[in-house]
Amino acid sequence: MATRIEPIHETHRLLEESFGPRENGIKAILFDMDGVLIDARDWHYEALNLALSPFGLDIDRDAHLATFDGLPTRTKLDMLSKSRNLPRGLHSFVNTMKQKYTIDMVRQSCHPVFQHQYALSHLKAAGYKIAVCSNSIRQSLEQMMQRAGLDRFLDLMLSNEDVTKPKPDPEIYTTAITRLGLTPSECLIVEDNEHGIRAARASGAHVLVVGNPSDVTYERLMTSIENTVSAP
Ligand SMILES: [Mg+2]
Repeated sequence: MATRIEPIHETHRLLEESFGPRENGIKAILFDMDGVLIDARDWHYEALNLALSPFGLDIDRDAHLATFDGLPTRTKLDMLSKSRNLPRGLHSFVNTMKQKYTIDMVRQSCHPVFQHQYALSHLKAAGYKIAVCSNSIRQSLEQMMQRAGLDRFLDLMLSNEDVTKPKPDPEIYTTAITRLGLTPSECLIVEDNEHGIRAARASGAHVLVVGNPSDVTYERLMTSIENTVSAP
């Protein structure tokens, strides 16, 4: 007996119909950017060290991953003034240079990643709202999303310039949830590090923790959404 083979686009359409937003389920996915959709940790680490180098300061990689990763540059500079005596009068210059070096690295190294474009395009087609909420400044956020080819799938982008308190405060997530017109229980946040996870959990939304951007696949996101729906 012949097996009926569905064309792949038909299979995807059926998947999207069966996995689209449910009455009492997840309606939006809110992504952190660095370490989730973009592998930018090295760029931030190297750009900050380049900006600090004229002043004889640098941060070693272990300290960066353990303490600084995921925090806005201004917060990192405050911490360096307290722990390493970086003069506060240099903050503005170091911050400007750090952002310039970050943009240079993004121009060189930020490219579309198929599995992320696939995931976001299918989530969008299935009817989910998609947001990115990042501790980065707006220029970095917009540039990375454009160069990664993900900006076209986004309903909302929030940077650290859109809130008064960066992560680990939950403000960026509570703001995004309100702007999308949803409740925390209707949102799934995807985060990768301690500061972001604290912010995500404090917002009251569901949280999917990933190790790095290669963990972010359509299948994994859908499994997380399904588990949330079936949770008591
Ligand atoms: Mg992150």
